[in-house]
Amino acid sequence: MKLKVDQDKCIGCGACVSTCPNVFDFNDEGLAHVIVDEVKDEDKENAMDALKSCPTDAIEEVKE
Ligand code: SF4
Repeated sequence: MKLKVDQDKCIGCGACVSTCPNVFDFNDEGLAHVIVDEVKDEDKENAMDALKSCPTDAIEEVKE
């Protein structure tokens, strides 16, 4: 699974970074971004929780 954060929608609330720090971190602009190319199996549940909990729906799954 691949994820991305829409930088135009992210408000930098930090919820995803708290929920799943293995996948999300802040960039230099204080917005969240995805730090892994492929989400590992053991991180998928937390990553999906973060996706569903994002207040601005900024996290999207990248379909290939
Ligand atoms: Fe940005 Fe959504 Fe993460 Fe908050 S939860 S930092 S709005 S991507």
